[in-house]
Parts: sequence; structure tokens; C-alpha cells
Amino acid sequence: MLDGNRIAGQIRAELAREIEKLSRSGIVPGLAVILAGGNPASEIYVRSKIKACEQLGIRSELLRFNDFVATEQLLQSVAQLNSRQDVDGILVQLPVPAQVESGILLTTVAPDKDVDGLHPMNIGNLSARRPALVPCTPAGIMELLRRSNIPIEGQHAVVVGRSNIVGKPMSMLLLNENATVTICHSKTRNLRELTREADILVVAIGRPGFITAEYVKAGATVIDVGVNRVTDPDEFNRIFANDPERMRSFAGKGSAIAGDVHPEVVEVAGALTPVPGGVGPLTIAMLLANTVKACDMRRGRS
Ligand code: NDP
Repeated sequence: MLDGNRIAGQIRAELAREIEKLSRSGIVPGLAVILAGGNPASEIYVRSKIKACEQLGIRSELLRFNDFVATEQLLQSVAQLNSRQDVDGILVQLPVPAQVESGILLTTVAPDKDVDGLHPMNIGNLSARRPALVPCTPAGIMELLRRSNIPIEGQHAVVVGRSNIVGKPMSMLLLNENATVTICHSKTRNLRELTREADILVVAIGRPGFITAEYVKAGATVIDVGVNRVTDPDEFNRIFANDPERMRSFAGKGSAIAGDVHPEVVEVAGALTPVPGGVGPLTIAMLLANTVKACDMRRGRS
């Protein structure tokens, strides 16, 4: 099992030293988070991001907007944050309410403050192998692979999922490190044959327990990005029938969190990230890392 919490802890400790160094020059990195609407999952994510900033000495602020906010109002807010010297990172928590034009909003964030790496300038720089702010989840997975001494160069990496926030940047990062990369999605034929070829298999599809042992080559490294709430007892039993602890918890709460990878994969994989405690902690650690990186880059320090 690849321990995401342990590696996230290492990254945070390194960042704490960097932030300490910055503070000796009178610099405090700052992150602004825009939260539009009352999505309960977003509330939880934002709270943990703000808490992580506080713990590390990054100044953070939360700008809240209601469910009916207009695109124009959010654009004005982003423009103000763009022009502020004390704000190094701007994060628009997704999803935004349906009426908000998210494409325009994300391209309004100044590229050098775009800590989610979603501005076309950062996407372009990543694919051109130039310095860029890279989306936190795939950046965290690269740290996990490197720090776990998992070779990347020359390996066949299969990425299942092609979202802008996970699948596509993940594929590009692996390619930049000289993996041979196959990208799969919902229209891919013979998914199983392709995933069985993978030395490194990254799964980000949002389908609980979808990747079973038969999708995985013996000894492969399997990275499970999925975070899915399971409430259907049949689905729960299909995934967690052999896990008494989770069964007790499910009986009490009526829900459980499952990754995209079925727990039985542990029997065939060489290395596997658990859910929770795998990719999730790294995503937050890399948000902090991107804020410090943006702070350094904006001051010409890196
Ligand atoms: P999206 O819904 O944006 O993308 C899902 C992708 O999976 C799409 O490309 C889709 O294909 C593909 N897909 C869906 N079903 C299948 C299938 N049956 N076979 C092959 N491909 C399929 O999801 P995200 O990338 O935003 O997130 C993926 C998962 O990761 C979610 O569970 C999410 O909660 C989790 N997540 C976890 C994070 C963490 O920190 N741990 C951070 C971000 C996300 P197509 O493009 O053809 O529709």
C-alpha cells in the first residue's frame, strides 16, 4: 500500500521550512478561495484546504457567493484578486452553479496565480514541458511515484479518465517523464485489454470499484483517484463484502467512500493507493506547494 498521508506529511514538512525562510524576508504566501453555491462536498473540501493553509502559515481567505451569483460578479472578484500583491494563489472551487460560465471564469484567473493549473496558458506550458502551475491531483501522484521509487521512464502508463483536472494533465506529466502513455475514456473499446498492459495504471473515472483484479497486470502500480460515496447496499456488498470494519460503519452511517478500484486488486497489484489515505492527502499538499511555487515565481525566486 502506498501511504499518501506519509508522503503528504513529508511534502508539508519541506514546505514549512520554505515558508519559514520566506517569512524571514517578510513574505507570507497568500491563497484566496472562491466558493460559489452551497455544494456540501465543496464546503468540506474548502474547509480542509483553508485549515491546511493555517497549519502551514499560508495566509488564506475565503470569498463566498450564493447559488444565484452572476458570472460578472465572480469575474469582478477574480479581477480584484489578480491585482492584489498579497494574493499569490487563486482557487475557484468547482463545480460552480450552472448559470456561471466556468470557462470564462477560469481563464480570467491570472496564469501566475492559477494554483489549480486550469488556465490554458498553464495547460500549454505543461504540454510544452515549460515551467507551469500543474493541477494538484496529478502533480501529487507524480510526487507519490517519485518518492516511492517507482520507475516511470520507459514504463507503459495507462490513464483511465481524460478530465481537464486529472486525466489529461496526468497523462502529460507521465509523458514528460518519458513513460509511454495510453489514455482511455468512456468510448474506449477493449478497456480491459489496455489496462492489463499497464505497468502504471491511474484510474480517475468516478465509478466505485469499477477496476477489478481482471483489469490489472500482476505487479502493476495502481493509483486510485476515485472518491465515490456509495449508499446502495448491493453495490456496497459488491465492493466491501470482505471488510468487516467498513460493514460496521456502513450499517451505522448508511454510506461509505469507495475508490474507482476494487479492493481485491490488492491481491494482484505490486503497489496500490488506498481510498481514503492515498491520493487525497497529496492533492491538498500540492495545493499548498503550488501556492508557495506561485509566490516564488511571482517574485522571481524560482
Ligand atoms: P470526470 O467526471 O470529470 O471525468 C471522468 C472521466 O472518466 C471521463 O473522461 C470519462 O470519459 C471517464 N469514464 C467514465 N466512465 C468510464 C468508463 N466506464 N470507462 C472508461 N472511462 C470512463 O471526473 P474527474 O476526473 O473530475 O474525477 C474522477 C474521480 O476522481 C471522481 O471520483 C472524483 O471524485 C475523484 N477525484 C479525486 C480527487 C482526489 O484528490 N482524490 C481529486 C479530483 C477528483 P468521457 O470523457 O468519455 O466521458
